[in-house]
Amino acid sequence: MQYQVDDRGFYGEYGGAYIPEMLYANVENLSKKYLEIMKDPGFKQEFDQLLKDYVGRPSPLYRAKRLSQHYGCKIYLKREDLNHTGAHKINNTIGQILMAQRLGKKRIIAETGAGQHGVATATVCALMGIDCIVYMGKVDIARQAPNVARMRMLGAEVRPALSGSQTLKDATNEAIRDWINNPHDTHYIIGSVVGPHPYPDMVARFQSIISEEMRWQLEEHEGRACPDYILACVGGGSNAAGAFYHYLDEESVRLVAIEASGKGIDSGASAATSVLGSMGIIHGSKTMLMQTEDGQIIEPYSISAGLDYPGIGPQHAHLITSGRVQVLDATDGEALTAAMLLTGLEGIIPALESAHAIAALEKINFTEEDIVILNLSGRGDKDLATYINYMDGIDEDFRN
Ligand SMILES: *Cc1c(COP(=O)(O)O)cnc(C)c1O
Repeated sequence: MQYQVDDRGFYGEYGGAYIPEMLYANVENLSKKYLEIMKDPGFKQEFDQLLKDYVGRPSPLYRAKRLSQHYGCKIYLKREDLNHTGAHKINNTIGQILMAQRLGKKRIIAETGAGQHGVATATVCALMGIDCIVYMGKVDIARQAPNVARMRMLGAEVRPALSGSQTLKDATNEAIRDWINNPHDTHYIIGSVVGPHPYPDMVARFQSIISEEMRWQLEEHEGRACPDYILACVGGGSNAAGAFYHYLDEESVRLVAIEASGKGIDSGASAATSVLGSMGIIHGSKTMLMQTEDGQIIEPYSISAGLDYPGIGPQHAHLITSGRVQVLDATDGEALTAAMLLTGLEGIIPALESAHAIAALEKINFTEEDIVILNLSGRGDKDLATYINYMDGIDEDFRN
């Protein structure tokens, strides 16, 4: 089975580049050049150096002893939470800012929902001294004040998206509109393995450092590169794509993606795309998405802003439908319980997104010998307000 992108930009029947005419030249140019640029020794050297000295890589592969005892198997946490800016997203934005420079672009645009990708983008723009405009729904701007402040401090202009529900998909529409109007000098930094080809492949390659490190780190710990399981949460799917990348052809490694089922899969308030979704086109690629019978995108819901996305990347759609990747889900309540459990057992406060992956440990029957790597995509500082409400019992809805 072919799990990587083919030369037409497809993963099986998913992927491609379904874009307005006006963007064709821009996307085609990126498509023609990205592999050549990434293979250039100068590019690789600068990327690796920044990952090491600026991001703080390699991120540790930590043997979580008490968590392992609790679940009766051997669990390792891949500590993406220890990266600069607190999550895996910086791996991608570092790669893309270097790409933009090689393409001669002078201006960066991005879209953001909770603000995490906006912060990661504003960070690398400050680092390189490049103008940065982040589109964000007006509602999200109000909900995510600390991240808006971070972006402003980093020198980015945060432009409110005023249409529709004034959330992520509207911000994405605004960013695409900007790109159409500024095709020559602007690079659009997409934050996950979504969007038109070559973005899903390019972002997966930048994030593949995660599984590249896992292989030698597990070899050091256990004398073997392959675990029995790899678990990662999926919003658009970039941390999972990076964690799975170098294991896709190792059929003995069971790959598990965890989606957010919000208040429950059948509640009408979830983001469980692979269960509830069907094939359609979103953000320029053919993939699985949550839509009504007449093709309107269904507003997703999750307590965790990073998983609150109505689609998944086209590679994940292919990996899931072909059976290579198994999908589990976790509700808001299960994720909150898991966040408390990890914090109590290991002294690590996870991002709410990552807590969904922790919650999935309950749903797998492990044996004592099983070696499990869980990709801890980010840290929980940004979610403290939600955790406080949970501990104080403020929203009983969480206790589902
Ligand atoms: C954004 C985010 C995610 C979800 O994005 P993916 O592209 O699916 O990885 C997961 N975890 C954290 C901490 C995030 O910030």
